Amino acid sequence: MPAPTSARSPAAADFAPAAGGLLTVDLAAIEANYRHLARLAAPARVAGVVKADAYGLGAVPVTRRLIAAGCRHFFVALLSEAIELRPLMPAGAMLAVLNGLAPGSEREAAVAGIVPVLNSLAQLRAWAALAHDLATPLPAILQVDTGMSRLGLSPSEVDALADDAGMRVGLDLLYVMSHLGCADEPTHPANRAQLAVFTAAKAKLGIATASLANSAGIFLGPDYHFDLCRPGAAVYGLDVGPAAHGIRPVIGLKARVAQIRTIPAGASIGYGYTFTATLEMRLATLSVGYADGWPRALGNVGAAFIDGVSLPFTGRVSMDSATIDISALPKGRLAPGSLVDLIAAEQSADDVGRLTGTIGYEILTNIGRRYARRYIG
Ligand SMILES: *Cc1c(COP(=O)(O)O)cnc(C)c1O
Repeated sequence: MPAPTSARSPAAADFAPAAGGLLTVDLAAIEANYRHLARLAAPARVAGVVKADAYGLGAVPVTRRLIAAGCRHFFVALLSEAIELRPLMPAGAMLAVLNGLAPGSEREAAVAGIVPVLNSLAQLRAWAALAHDLATPLPAILQVDTGMSRLGLSPSEVDALADDAGMRVGLDLLYVMSHLGCADEPTHPANRAQLAVFTAAKAKLGIATASLANSAGIFLGPDYHFDLCRPGAAVYGLDVGPAAHGIRPVIGLKARVAQIRTIPAGASIGYGYTFTATLEMRLATLSVGYADGWPRALGNVGAAFIDGVSLPFTGRVSMDSATIDISALPKGRLAPGSLVDLIAAEQSADDVGRLTGTIGYEILTNIGRRYARRYIG
């Protein structure tokens, strides 16, 4: 008997007909972007920022690939994220928690060998007290606020710490760090101002090694690199401002056609009947909606693509579906089960962000769990 075409055959798995769409993540492009940033930042080291499930692309496969590319410093936002990734870390790697530790979670972090970013003197005292209890020095990164007013020691806390060496007993401060608020605007005066505040705080605290730049900060030049850079977005192919160059796209996103129909002039489309056909139209209903992170703000805005042809969204985006106008395509080009491009050469995640009043970061991190995923490269 000939082998039946089974759902387990590679071709069928690629096609993933059970899912409403397909997310393709190019790990070779992630590695190329990481290596490009590492070359720009050298001799500074370059960490991988893999918070928020590596910006929605899958923290485990992305972290594995970055480790294979030589990355040995990782940042996540939360302790829960660090605990999940800890087993992947090779000996000697650093895994740090940007948001610091919530009171009561210090011991769990220490036992797991996770490095907190200490964002206040209260966090510093709690970590030093645990080092005392455990009778062992504990590593940490000290964040100072240089202007964003988000996380990190205030200027008066920096002074208090600089004046009292006793507060640091038991702490192995690996880096002093801060974060840039406007690095994607290279000419913004805040960049130089934050750099000056950071350099002064570093000197005052007498910490030899420092970390300031995110992706966009790397492109501001060597003054901003210090010893460790922390890119996320550029590794994942996002546009991080006018100074950025040499970054490859990383993802492709496709939606599956659920149904094709022809409607007469006068028929309306979707919730609220926000679109009414003035001519006969051919439509495709896609099995992707705002529950998949495809923004509801794309109702009657933006397009899907196939063969370079733009297929405008018509009517509102629903939770699990959205409708596109396929009148411009030859009849039969699409059928139920076909895939159309949402994010591809014609339209980046940044473009979708611009169309919907947000940024590519939000589009990526909102990509839901319902897409079939294919890792290539
Ligand atoms: C998210 C984050 C980064 C990475 O920023 P990108 O703009 O994605 O490169 C670096 N540092 C801190 C403190 C962050 O919160």
